[in-house]
Amino acid sequence: MQKMKFEYKIIVGYIIIGGIWIVFSDKILNYFIRDPDLLTQIQTYKGWFYVVVTAMLFYSLLKTHLVKIRNAEQKAIDSDKLKTAFLQNISHEIRTPMNSIVGFSQLLRDNRITEKEKAQYLDMIAKSSDQLLNIVNEVLDISLIETGNITVNKNYVHLNDLLEDLYLSYMPLVNKDIAFSVHKGLSDQLSYIITDVSKVRQILSNLLNNAIKFTDKGYIRFGYTIEEDELKFYIEDTGIGIEADFHEKIFELFRKVGQENLRLYDGVGLGLAICKGNIDLLKGRIWTESEPGQGSRFYFTLPYEPVYEEETSSIKKMEITSNLNDLTVLVAEDDDINFRYIKEIFKSTGAEILHAVNGKEAVEMCQNNNKINIVLIDIKMPVMNGYEAIKKIREIRPQLPIIAQTAFALSNEMLKAFNAGSNDYISKPFKKDQLLAIVAKNLSVNK
Ligand code: ADP
Repeated sequence: MQKMKFEYKIIVGYIIIGGIWIVFSDKILNYFIRDPDLLTQIQTYKGWFYVVVTAMLFYSLLKTHLVKIRNAEQKAIDSDKLKTAFLQNISHEIRTPMNSIVGFSQLLRDNRITEKEKAQYLDMIAKSSDQLLNIVNEVLDISLIETGNITVNKNYVHLNDLLEDLYLSYMPLVNKDIAFSVHKGLSDQLSYIITDVSKVRQILSNLLNNAIKFTDKGYIRFGYTIEEDELKFYIEDTGIGIEADFHEKIFELFRKVGQENLRLYDGVGLGLAICKGNIDLLKGRIWTESEPGQGSRFYFTLPYEPVYEEETSSIKKMEITSNLNDLTVLVAEDDDINFRYIKEIFKSTGAEILHAVNGKEAVEMCQNNNKINIVLIDIKMPVMNGYEAIKKIREIRPQLPIIAQTAFALSNEMLKAFNAGSNDYISKPFKKDQLLAIVAKNLSVNK
């Protein structure tokens, strides 16, 4: 359509200008020049003049148009190459951990392996599962960001605790020759802010993962400073660095520096695109300053929204973890293996675990058993789904903490669960600590 329009315009323009030229130029010439010889001579020049001017006009019009088309074509070729590289890369990234999960699970079946070997194999399986889950999460996250399906869920966050937490969890992953440190730009008291904690955690984790991946000596530092009404975070390393040409490109989808060296460093090239998507949502900026061989400094900003003192005391109360041993937990879950997993998680706490296999049964059990202190409810269940069950339980027991759990890592599912009346949300797969922390948090809020 666009092409037709352009051609149409050129032809119509050409005919109109040509027509005007023929009609008026002869009239003007005849008016001024009486000598027929001179008139013939001038008319020849006039013809040439017309040819040259229209040629110039065509040239400039076609040139701008063709430049646009060629750029678009180059972009399409580039993005095609990127996609192919991404597919090859993601296939490699998925197969590697898969191979180790499948391989070590089979080795575990062998009765002759020692306890030590068994522990090592299980360790490898756990590590590879984490790796695989990361890739699935990255692909899911980027598709949610790209389709505009991610929502911002702001809440109170103790920034210094978050940084300390990240520091402690990344410490064991940093090579011991590298000095790893964290720097907090505000006092503990002032570092209560309002933001989307899971997004900030994800951004910092991605940047720390990269710093660790691309650095093998020197130091890695991260932290934040406060500049007027903005928090400025930084992650600094003395790793391989990035050429100036790539300083902006690396934030695009699938981009990796030196596509030909794909195999050298793991990664599918989505991490920074996810960071940028999340930072845009939080109304911040991200950029890098880096030199090959010298290391990199990644910066990002977030608006500084402090929480005031009177509010912080109530948050602290929420953080007190509860004692879980005199607890009765109702787990509404239709999948047997998942139920067994949850039961195992609570084994060490001494809590009593009840099982409902669908939403209807969960509602009946809440009605008939006053001992139940907390409900863990799966969203996708037969007979009555989780949303409906949550609504009904809320009617019967308005104060009972309900935690929705689902395999959909989508924020609108989370919103639906909250709207139905759940207090909190956990998405599968989850780890023991994550589940126990969320249970403890909801019990202390409701005390
Ligand atoms: P990947 O999964 O490949 O790490 P990212 O989007 O996180 O994807 O990063 C894109 C590319 O940017 C990386 O492949 C790497 O080439 C470059 N990069 C990112 N962080 C660093 C860093 N700290 N040091 C050097 N290069 C980096």
